Amino acid sequence: MATIQWYPGHMAKARRQVTEALTKVDIIYEIVDARVPESSRNPLLDEIGQGKKRLLVLNKADLANPAATQGFIEYYQAQGLPAVAIDAQHTKGIQRIIAETHTVLADYIDRQKTKGVRNVLLRAMCVGVPNVGKSTILNRLAGRNIAQTGNTPGVTRAQQWIKTGEDISLLDTPGILWPKFEDPLVGKKLALTGGIKDTLFHADDVALFALETLVAQVPDEVKHLYRVTDADLQQDLPDLLMTMTARLGFKDDYDRTSWVIINDVRKGKLGRFTWDAVPQHA
Ligand code: GDP
Repeated sequence: MATIQWYPGHMAKARRQVTEALTKVDIIYEIVDARVPESSRNPLLDEIGQGKKRLLVLNKADLANPAATQGFIEYYQAQGLPAVAIDAQHTKGIQRIIAETHTVLADYIDRQKTKGVRNVLLRAMCVGVPNVGKSTILNRLAGRNIAQTGNTPGVTRAQQWIKTGEDISLLDTPGILWPKFEDPLVGKKLALTGGIKDTLFHADDVALFALETLVAQVPDEVKHLYRVTDADLQQDLPDLLMTMTARLGFKDDYDRTSWVIINDVRKGKLGRFTWDAVPQHA
């Protein structure tokens, strides 16, 4: 998994490198995970991206709850932050990024044309926390495999511009910022969606967090996948996890059960879930 452990030195370096790269572009593609759009943002971008046009890209929409995704898009739009939902894995919505880029940069394009520039080139870069799909998006926009799915903080190599086949040029190396790790709830959500290195959290904590929602929202899938009954679902969650462990034949290895649950959620086996709540907005 493309995740790393972040130390202050990494963070300072990432900040410097992303800040430097941003000076070269007209628009930032801020990539987030549609299942955790708020938890997978790095607030630093508001600071270092100030004055730059930005497009928020909610990727992995194929795994998120569609109504919640729509709610988030409306919420961001209401804040004046243009946002699109895509599924880069299956090349869905890539055209939306291109169309929205033209809308967001319409004034810039007009100004360039007034100056006599015939073929206005729009310069963009992808920025986001690890594992949200930056490299996949880059490859889809480029129409070929460019980015190694990288796991190094910041922007490491000498960058090159990639033509997308449209009038957009992209920096070939995405800007990588660190995930939020102060808030334990955010940590669990990121762990559940694969945004934090698997060795950095306790699987049972994350599985119990997931189970609370799963039992409430998809009890039938839970019963079917983990061989439990309606009566079992009445138990406290830690007891339920033990019952599942026994039913799955894992003796008392509840860590193993926890990993089964986490991986099932990551694959979307129990359905499409959004783990952040859509903020209230007018
Ligand atoms: P990066 O670290 O931000 O560059 O993320 P990657 O592009 O390496 O993607 C991380 C993982 O998410 C990979 O396993 C991708 O195949 C997967 N992925 C990327 N985009 C999508 C998407 O839209 N849907 C799904 N289901 N998986 C995706």
